[in-house]
Amino acid sequence: MIRECNLEDISDGKRYTSADLVKVGCNDCEGCHACCTGMGDTICLDPYDVCRLSFGTNRPFASFLEKEVGLHVEEGVIIPHLLMGDGEACSFLNGEGRCSIHPWRPGICRLFPLGRVYEDEGFSYFLQADECVKTNRTKEKIKNWLDTPELKRYEAFILTWHNHIKEVQHTLQNGADAQKINMEHLQLFYLMPYASPEAFYEEFETRLAQWNSK
Ligand code: SF4
Ligand code: SF4
Repeated sequence: MIRECNLEDISDGKRYTSADLVKVGCNDCEGCHACCTGMGDTICLDPYDVCRLSFGTNRPFASFLEKEVGLHVEEGVIIPHLLMGDGEACSFLNGEGRCSIHPWRPGICRLFPLGRVYEDEGFSYFLQADECVKTNRTKEKIKNWLDTPELKRYEAFILTWHNHIKEVQHTLQNGADAQKINMEHLQLFYLMPYASPEAFYEEFETRLAQWNSK
């Protein structure tokens, strides 16, 4: 979720790259699932999340919309997010308090307690100072913490997707047919199945070119 706030109020005041060491290590979250609970609609999904989740669970994305995934609107654009269920816990949290889709968990779950700040036509990482409840956290390289293959390619996708959403929001704010555009957008980037996570970036670029040529 995109938030407008003063970075100094919620972080240690530093900006990081994926090559930096940051105090995020929490002993594999042993005994804790605090950040899998009470997150409202903030765990947003991008197309790579959807591709990874569908492929890993062998379920079409549409099937998640019945129970585990909801839709909300950000400045006119419909964005999917993980739903909180019983006890405000994430629908994918199992009875042992562990993530039942850990290998396929969304990018925001991999990122936490880091965030991204977009500026100067790029982005940096920052540490959300008081979000992880564990004390005595250890230093980890961000590139390891994110647990994501082809990280440079992933980061390029994240920036492209961020800019794309901003463009769609701008289009909708200028009086375009919001319902039609949102339905086409959901269909092209979320509902139409992706072949595999390995082939995702090529497929995404093709779909983005298709969208931009309209
Ligand atoms: S709050 Fe920290 S320790 Fe607890 S589940 Fe989240 S990341 Fe892990
Ligand atoms: S997908 Fe997994 S890691 Fe993310 S909030 Fe849900 S249970 Fe936690």
